Amino acid sequence: MNDRPIIARESRHSSPVLDRDQPWHRLIAGRPNLAWHAMDGLCFDDIPLAAIATAHGTPTWVYCGTILRDRLNLLQSTFSKVGLSPAIRYAIKANDHLAILTLLRQSGAGADVTSAGEFARAAAAGIAPSAMVFSGVGKRTDEISHAIEAGIGQINVESVEELAAISAIARARNRTAPVALRINPDVAAGGHDKISTGRATDKFGILLRDAGPLYRHAATLPGIEPVGFSTHIGSQIFSPALFEAAYSRVLTLIDALNAEGHPVTRFDLGGGFGIPYDDGTGFPLPAYTAMVRRILADRPLDLIIEPGRWLAGPAGLLLARVTLTKHTEAANFTILDAGMNDLLRPALYEATHGIVPVSAIDATQPAQSTEIVGPVCESSDRFGTYDLPALTPGVLVAILDAGAYGAAMSSTYNGRPLAAQVLIDRGQPHLIRMRQTIEQLWRDEIVPNP
Ligand SMILES: *Cc1c(COP(=O)(O)O)cnc(C)c1O
Repeated sequence: MNDRPIIARESRHSSPVLDRDQPWHRLIAGRPNLAWHAMDGLCFDDIPLAAIATAHGTPTWVYCGTILRDRLNLLQSTFSKVGLSPAIRYAIKANDHLAILTLLRQSGAGADVTSAGEFARAAAAGIAPSAMVFSGVGKRTDEISHAIEAGIGQINVESVEELAAISAIARARNRTAPVALRINPDVAAGGHDKISTGRATDKFGILLRDAGPLYRHAATLPGIEPVGFSTHIGSQIFSPALFEAAYSRVLTLIDALNAEGHPVTRFDLGGGFGIPYDDGTGFPLPAYTAMVRRILADRPLDLIIEPGRWLAGPAGLLLARVTLTKHTEAANFTILDAGMNDLLRPALYEATHGIVPVSAIDATQPAQSTEIVGPVCESSDRFGTYDLPALTPGVLVAILDAGAYGAAMSSTYNGRPLAAQVLIDRGQPHLIRMRQTIEQLWRDEIVPNP
């Protein structure tokens, strides 16, 4: 597909007769880079998904470069409207493909990394260590050491124990590590229990009451340059008020420390901005930036944000094919060739993704209820119950908003090779990851005394 140019077509917007109230139509209507074309079916940024399935098979992740750039630009411009220009440190765990990282770097993003592997990936994509933040509760000595040697922009410290370890490592290397203390503000937030990170009982961060004394202590430690605070209360959050609750607590602490002569220059606001997985409304970005402006008042803090899902989620989908349908007295099942090994979110977080037919003809059929499942031998390998047109074996569907925590979390469970990945950019689809071959599944395994 790379070397086969797709001829630009006159109009993708001549849709077949569609019942506009059908759920799949509402999902498409709310996503400007998706449209049905009467002949080519569902197009992503004007490229027919059916052509991608023909060229590369299924399941295949498909990303759209335009969406990634547009969202990064929107984030920057919405902040600049309130006079702020936070450093954007994309949380690469959401989607760490080198092509995605390169594209975001070219548009001005740095990286939030959580391991030596992510650090190396971000570096391989050309992101400077100084534009990286190192997060995570369990950073190993070798990882900290490497990050400090390379000149990491900021280490977000998650405990008193870790602060001591960083000090010892930096001192042994005659270096100074810029650290921010990650505050656990004890705010319950996040779209699901498993993605809430800022409650006192969560493993993340330093409790607010311990943070002031620890910051003062940090200033006395060799090898440590305390620069400020960070907080990240969870993921898939829509309410600016929840962020405000967390941020104001941190700001109160910052004021107290500044008043005592302990300079605080940086405030890392974390990530967690939600995206609609249905036809609901998105994260209220202008209300959020206005809130940040208001509570920040005229404090001259350097801001950082660490969005992951919000940037990458809407930029990707998972293209899958119906393997077969199964009808029992209890339910109608539609079994896809994509499963929890590809997209883990439904099984892990009880998440649901919009699912739409790819063929324009299918999209005109009346709805019927079906349980969409994957092929993996686990009952949790199900996407959910959907009202969809009758899906027959062989037809294609697109699982929407799968650009974040999709491919990054996939596995080869049940002997299922990692899916191919395609990036549509500047009018062309590019294969950016070959489908793993079956032989590659055991390529690195060693059988003693064969
Ligand atoms: C996961 C994570 C993020 C990104 O979260 P999103 O919900 O994807 O925006 C940002 N910061 C930290 C510390 C994280 O762990």
